[in-house]
Amino acid sequence: MKLLDVQLNRLRRWYSDGVLCIGDAAHAMSPVGGIGINLAVADAVAAARILAGPLRTRRVSTRPLARVQTRRWAPTAFLQAVQRAIHARVVAVAMTGGDPAPSRAVQLVGRSRPLRRVLAYLVAIGPLPEHAPDYARRGG
Ligand SMILES: Cc1cc2nc3c(=O)[nH]c(=O)nc-3n(C[C@H](O)[C@H](O)[C@H](O)COP(=O)(O)OP(=O)(O)OC[C@H]3O[C@@H](n4cnc5c(N)ncnc54)[C@H](O)[C@@H]3O)c2cc1C
Repeated sequence: MKLLDVQLNRLRRWYSDGVLCIGDAAHAMSPVGGIGINLAVADAVAAARILAGPLRTRRVSTRPLARVQTRRWAPTAFLQAVQRAIHARVVAVAMTGGDPAPSRAVQLVGRSRPLRRVLAYLVAIGPLPEHAPDYARRGG
């Protein structure tokens, strides 16, 4: 049996000359909420869109690499803050034998269909959706 290491952290700088970290390499996500995979895919789509042009010219400076980090930093920081809050209020309480009663905010979301839809959107699509450019789409 292999125990998986759960981490929740991020690099201060995701790039250097000739290298770019995305997904868990830039920001390790915990299993909470099941959002890490979607976030990594969104990073990849953003990186592909931003770097396609420079890669075609075979000259990629650190500027477009920095643009990828700038673009993806806010949704990452937001989702990690959500995971951190759930770790503190639910996981840590349950691990020490307590009863992680849902907060008022969670109860409110549970009772409200529009808020549940917003939550589902945040989990499935993320706070900053990324789209492949037209030329990369089938039939585009
Ligand atoms: C226990 C656990 C459960 C989780 N459950 C979920 C979940 O249910 N839903 C969810 O959305 N997220 C979940 N997460 C978070 C999610 O796993 C990560 O956020 C996501 O996998 C990050 O994707 P990634 O492609 O960036 O990295 P990874 O999925 O880690 O992919 C990196 C890949 O690179 C390979 N690799 C590493 N070094 C090299 C090398 N030198 N050469 C070639 N290949 C290499 C690795 O083998 C790996 O296949 C979970 C995390 C943990 C720890």
